[in-house]
Amino acid sequence: MPSLFTDLDALEQRLRALGAGPRHLQHLMRTWTQALPLSRGRKQVEHFLPLAVRDAWPAIDTALQGLARELSVHPGEDHSVRLLVALHDGQTVESVLLPRGGLCVSTQVGCAVGCVFCMTGRDGLRRQLGSAEIVAQVALARRRRAVNKVVFMGMGEPAHNLDAVMQAIDCLGTTGAIAHKNLVFSTVGDRRAFERLPLGPVKPALALSLHAVDDEQRAALLPRAPRIPVAELVEATDHYARLSGYPAQVQWALIEGVNDRDEDVEGIARLMRGRHAMMNLIPLNAVDGAPWRRPSAERAAEMARALNRRGVLTRLRQSAGQDVEAGCGQLRSRASGHAPTKGVPITLVRDAGTSTPTG
Ligand code: SAH
Ligand code: SF4
Repeated sequence: MPSLFTDLDALEQRLRALGAGPRHLQHLMRTWTQALPLSRGRKQVEHFLPLAVRDAWPAIDTALQGLARELSVHPGEDHSVRLLVALHDGQTVESVLLPRGGLCVSTQVGCAVGCVFCMTGRDGLRRQLGSAEIVAQVALARRRRAVNKVVFMGMGEPAHNLDAVMQAIDCLGTTGAIAHKNLVFSTVGDRRAFERLPLGPVKPALALSLHAVDDEQRAALLPRAPRIPVAELVEATDHYARLSGYPAQVQWALIEGVNDRDEDVEGIARLMRGRHAMMNLIPLNAVDGAPWRRPSAERAAEMARALNRRGVLTRLRQSAGQDVEAGCGQLRSRASGHAPTKGVPITLVRDAGTSTPTG
């Protein structure tokens, strides 16, 4: 069995065992994470790297390339490119090259949170990605084009794989040459993540997936997210944003009749006014077999205007690659021949003041 470096620690240990010193290690990590040639500038390998490292590198490089391979490539009309990525054990995840140098990476195969509108959440969690498997998605994408921003908004909940995600963030923010404010940790909110984010040498920007202002409605939409009151989540997000210096992104997947009502606008305005944050309204990508739809373009624009008028900085966004299996996890689900399940586990009452599950 060839040695696999699914974790960055294992890779670095192997290189150190071969005699790589700190400068060699930095050179090799840059080579991999930035998809650079091994010999560059005045660093010609035969003069720079220890012989044992030089000899072992081709096999190590092959093992690293085996961590994330392109299974299929789906260019979108908006210059995004969705990649279906095979991991070393045949599991698959999605990465999306975004217009203007961004890359969306996955942190888990599947996800345990089970948000009712999300394709990734349908099968639960299959496995965690190792830190090197997360970084490998960036190395892979950089062989196609330059990447200057990495958002952890692909498949999986970063807070449920916190050690690996924080290691990947530290690597990408140093040898990976991504500006810290351009690393975006996207989460449904988790106390351990709020504690951990300020401690690392690299402090990423934060995106909070909120979707509801009412605690019960949020619990129905995000069934296995930690039960943290919405007010506490927003407070913790605002606190971290001020500490890191970068405004937080608050994500709101817009679902017709569920969270696009006038009372949602009022609730968001109450919660968000004065926060060091920006509200992103993202019209839902419909998932086959589920009843949820996006509101009309007019309604979405009206909500964004109403929030901006109330002093909440709000953008209406579209997720990238709308024309190529837009929603998170949809590409993988099609490729694995997985017909989306018909129906969803719960129905939300649409007209009541607070939506509740009805079984
Ligand atoms: N688990 C993390 C990161 C991955 S999901 C999180 O939830 O934040 C990234 C974003 O995609 C989240 O904001 C999520 O709400 C959004 N999303 C998932 N399914 C979607 C859909 N069908 N339409 C629009 N946004 C969706
Ligand atoms: Fe998991 Fe995020 Fe999808 Fe929810 S939206 S199921 S947390 S990946």
